[in-house]
Amino acid sequence: MNKIIVIGAVAGGATVASQIRRLDSDSEIVVYEKDRDMSFANCGLPYYLGNVVEDRDYMLSATPEQFLDKKNITVKTFHEAIALNDQDKTIRVKNHQTGEIFEDHYDQLILSPGCRARQFPIESDRVFTLRNLVDTDKIEDFIVQNNVQKALVVGAGYISLEILENLHNRNIETTLIHRSDHINKSMDKDLNQVIFDELEKRQINYRLDEEIKHIENKTVTFKSGHVEDYDIIITGIGIEPNSDWLQTSQLKLNDRGYIPVNEYFETNLDDVYAIGDIIETFYRHTQQPTTVTLAWGAHRAASLVAENISSKSHMAKFKGLLGTNIVRFFDYALGSVGIAEHELENYDYTVIEQTQKQHAGYYPDAQPITLRVYFDNSTRKILRACAVGKDGVDKRIDILSTAIIGDLTVDDLRDIEIAYAPPFSSPKDIVNMIGYKAQ
Ligand code: FAD
Repeated sequence: MNKIIVIGAVAGGATVASQIRRLDSDSEIVVYEKDRDMSFANCGLPYYLGNVVEDRDYMLSATPEQFLDKKNITVKTFHEAIALNDQDKTIRVKNHQTGEIFEDHYDQLILSPGCRARQFPIESDRVFTLRNLVDTDKIEDFIVQNNVQKALVVGAGYISLEILENLHNRNIETTLIHRSDHINKSMDKDLNQVIFDELEKRQINYRLDEEIKHIENKTVTFKSGHVEDYDIIITGIGIEPNSDWLQTSQLKLNDRGYIPVNEYFETNLDDVYAIGDIIETFYRHTQQPTTVTLAWGAHRAASLVAENISSKSHMAKFKGLLGTNIVRFFDYALGSVGIAEHELENYDYTVIEQTQKQHAGYYPDAQPITLRVYFDNSTRKILRACAVGKDGVDKRIDILSTAIIGDLTVDDLRDIEIAYAPPFSSPKDIVNMIGYKAQ
């Protein structure tokens, strides 16, 4: 019988196993997961910590028992893949509950081990990271048991911003520090000003170009000389690919430890595929290599790999990612799509910016959005767009994502016939205005 082994049982891993079973009722499917849980909702964890999502059960969408009963898929939690031998087509697995180490043979192997939170170099039992439900439970228990009143959030990527918002809304006095002055790197640097405005409006302390030098129980000494007590410290200082165990194999990794794949998610080894956060893929519109550690790509890859493996063909070809992203920070949403701001230096481009209300100005709650679109001067194709505002940012970023996928030029944005009524937009929407301005 054909045997498919999947490594990692969350966004990419659980999805690819399910999708294969939908198309192939015969193959044996075994999923190895090194941690306690499968199929948890990583993206919802900050909102569970903030009590926005109250029921913990909502954070777990499936269990190994359900996968076995409903899909005939074996999921083994606390089982870590520790080595890959592509000659024998085996992986070595460690069962963390019994200590047993064994080999398992695959016909096809799908790697979706994701990334881990970079660990903070100073040890303290008050320091936590947030990557999975185990981390979330530890943080929640610590908050409750120690009656946490004051928190320090270290790092200002989107996960840290979500954690900060949720702790603040839970009435925990929270401070944010970041080691440089460039926060939320998916966004154009100057458009992040609304984040500082929101912090100041709520009298939330923050310091840029700041680092922790020393932690002694609750007392934190900073690089700036500042000293303050905190009950809990949550760090979000970046992620690292879970590929250390593959270093001894013949699998090709890039210089940062990510796995390069082609448009079928094939690696350099026969019958070994990789999906999700671990892969180095390519931008859809520029074809340049990129790494996008977001959920959409993991799910899309899972579907395509399932189609190809179950049909034993190259039927489904991946067309690349755009890194479309959005984060909410209190009253604002900030989103972007396309190449990163720092990658623009490789192009001859023009940038068009427009600020206007998300819907008719006379209609209640009209709020400005700023939309910025970068396009290539020779092809007039859109390279990158970002938007910030209180309402309607998601819609505009999704329109721009669709426009790039449809290979539209900046001039074509004039022709996007938006759905207009006063509560929703304007007869000349902000997206159309970018096209007119480019003209
Ligand atoms: P994961 O879902 O991380 O799963 C990998 C699994 O593999 C892990 O459970 C790991 O334990 C296991 N594993 C690793 N190594 C081994 C091994 N050797 N053997 C066995 N098992 C192994 N994305 C968005 O698009 N929008 C969001 O709003 C968003 N919010 C997020 C919020 C948080 C707090 C976090 C942590 C992530 C968020 N993400 C968000 C990112 C998103 O969750 C990831 O892009 C997605 O989960 C990637 O899927 P994956 O399968 O590659 O990795």
